[in-house]
Amino acid sequence: MIVVDGSMGEGGGQILRNAVALSAVLLKPIKVINIRAKRSKPGLRPQHLTAIKAVASLCSADVRGLSVGSMEVVFHPRRRPRGGSIRFDAGTAGSTTLMLQSLMPAMSFSQGPVEAELRGGTNNPMAPPTDYLIEVLTPILAKMGCGFQVELLRRGFYPRGGGVVRTRSRPTDFLKPIHLSEQGGVRRVRGISYSSRLPGHIVERMASSAEKLLKHHGYDVEILREALQPGHPKCALDPGCGILLVAELGSGSLIASDKLGEKGVPAERVGEEAARDLLKQIETGAAVDRHMGDQLVIWACLADGVSEYRVSELTSHTTTSIELCRQIAGCQAEVIGEEGGPATVRIRGIGLRRG
Ligand code: ATP
Repeated sequence: MIVVDGSMGEGGGQILRNAVALSAVLLKPIKVINIRAKRSKPGLRPQHLTAIKAVASLCSADVRGLSVGSMEVVFHPRRRPRGGSIRFDAGTAGSTTLMLQSLMPAMSFSQGPVEAELRGGTNNPMAPPTDYLIEVLTPILAKMGCGFQVELLRRGFYPRGGGVVRTRSRPTDFLKPIHLSEQGGVRRVRGISYSSRLPGHIVERMASSAEKLLKHHGYDVEILREALQPGHPKCALDPGCGILLVAELGSGSLIASDKLGEKGVPAERVGEEAARDLLKQIETGAAVDRHMGDQLVIWACLADGVSEYRVSELTSHTTTSIELCRQIAGCQAEVIGEEGGPATVRIRGIGLRRG
């Protein structure tokens, strides 16, 4: 059994999520120790628990150590991931998108289409907003041959969550490697400024401050406004807001930046910070953003051939994911660049075939 040390590198939940995802598609039992050792509340949180249960349901895994606060989990898949419908509820505002990080590889290499309905948070701090999965991650994964369709049925914010995300997948026999090294200029910037249970001027102020700054830099910008009120089926149980900006690059890639609104922070500042961050990432000449940098690692590791991408900022999430994929799957990887700066990531995938 492969033993993964959850305290290595970044030492967060992503090590566990990726380890379980790889175990499921490679049919290799794993034991993860020191789970989230570098987080202030280490061990499993409801989000991780739900994610593991969801992956286990697809590959009939035997799991030990499944309780909130547990620092050690054994995950033993008994069969290749199956198709079908699954539904899981974090019962909290636990991030549905982080749950999907664990589930999506198994959904891709499954015996048939999967429909997963997850409940929890859809727009959480320190996690991709569902909007990012819809607008950035799934179009980029489509280039590798993945068929995901993500639908945001109801937004979920802290503290109660209650958001609903439905993800459908079409199985893939193998993944094509990805090449995203060129920027090729910015064709246009699009985005969404969203809120639930807040006055409509909030989304307007976030959107127009971002638009103003981006237009000032010469970009063609279009930002959708979504201000939901109770009675709308997509409106969250709790108030919340945020903005996602996506630069469409000439090379066909996407660079994104997103910010959640916070109590006490003016809406203009939220929009402006997202726009400034997008501009800063574009200026590096990169073809993918810092979050895509780590989220692509597991897919490149499973792909059939050498993937290469230029990321705006190399994070410890990315280097940690690379180390984990090396340990569990045996892929080869090379990184040119330093943490905190732009970098080129090159990964020779293992060419996993759907059995
Ligand atoms: P936990 O330990 O509670 O599971 P965590 O903070 O440790 O959570 P991480 O291991 O940090 O989780 O992983 C967070 C994931 O969310 C990473 O894949 C990261 O790229 C992604 N992410 C974080 N913030 C954003 C954002 N604003 N936009 C897109 N992706 C994000």
